Amino acid sequence: MVSPPTSESARVLDGRIIAEEIKQEVSAEVKALASQKGWLPCLAAVLVGDDNASTIYVANKMRACAEVGIESAHHGLPASTTTAELISLISELNRRAEIDGILVQLPLPKHIDEAAILEAVDPAKDVDGFHPTNVGLLAMGRPRFAPCTPAGIIELLERNKIEIAGANACVVGRSQIVGRPVASLLLQRHATVTICHSRTRDLPSVTRQADILVAAMGRAGFVRRDFIKPGATVIDVGINKVTDVGEARGLFGDEAEKRIEAITRRGYTLVGDVHPAEADLVAGQRTPVPGGVGLLTVAMLMRNTLQAAKWRRGV
Ligand code: NAP
Repeated sequence: MVSPPTSESARVLDGRIIAEEIKQEVSAEVKALASQKGWLPCLAAVLVGDDNASTIYVANKMRACAEVGIESAHHGLPASTTTAELISLISELNRRAEIDGILVQLPLPKHIDEAAILEAVDPAKDVDGFHPTNVGLLAMGRPRFAPCTPAGIIELLERNKIEIAGANACVVGRSQIVGRPVASLLLQRHATVTICHSRTRDLPSVTRQADILVAAMGRAGFVRRDFIKPGATVIDVGINKVTDVGEARGLFGDEAEKRIEAITRRGYTLVGDVHPAEADLVAGQRTPVPGGVGLLTVAMLMRNTLQAAKWRRGV
């Protein structure tokens, strides 16, 4: 699970292996449910508009459903869809007994009232964990559906046997989908948690205290060497595109040529919020981008959908 350390490089926490493990566990349970109870969990995915990245994310989620044996239904709506029309579809999905999970791909087009949409989803089918009821339960330390990316980060730490209890954990970013929920989950596991954001004073001096540093800001390579405590575990949530060859050369160290080749071939390469070459000099271990947290997000959606099916159907 953890590649061997070298004298100059942080160990890589590979998301691929853990995501596969989780999907295999879900798949085995789905098979058992099908043979014992005669039904399969079902996820409904709603995509409004034709944003490229969102279309790819939804396709990946549908593919993962097929891999683990979960049924899925894709609802594609035009970008002109109104808030009322979308709420009407969600109400129908709430009513349909065979649907266990509802996923509304974000971001929604600007004219749609996102909060109203998230509140319209039946909390029992809210496999993304964004409904206020599920946000509240998580904040109380009684999570029902934890949002998928934060839940995936916890799996990555726990399955790599990185001790959370008693650790100083620092989360940079306070969004509803990553920063706040991951801070809640770390607190629930007895970390001492600090949450940083754009108004934090002298950010590096705060992040340098962290045994576990979670970077979720959406700023390419922002977390430099001086942000990281020697030996710390660094979880890189960011997904940013780098298109400049010179920038790639500075960011990727030994991997630079491979990344530059990707820029030449398709116009960009991906980097997280952590500067990988500098993190390698000081961190004990870190997640790669791509191949880290992102893969866990889809695996946890599968697990939340299975969980929703079991709760709703009284298993
Ligand atoms: P977001 O909603 O834009 O929130 C960014 C947060 O970072 C905000 O709380 C902001 O502070 C803080 N921030 C921004 N610049 C900062 C700075 N210079 N110093 C300190 N804090 C700063 O972003 P998000 O949705 O949480 O996503 C964060 C990143 O994770 C993005 O790159 C996104 O693509 C990625 N992501 C990845 C996955 C995955 O599956 N791997 C899932 C979700 C998101 P304020 O609150 O003060 O503005």
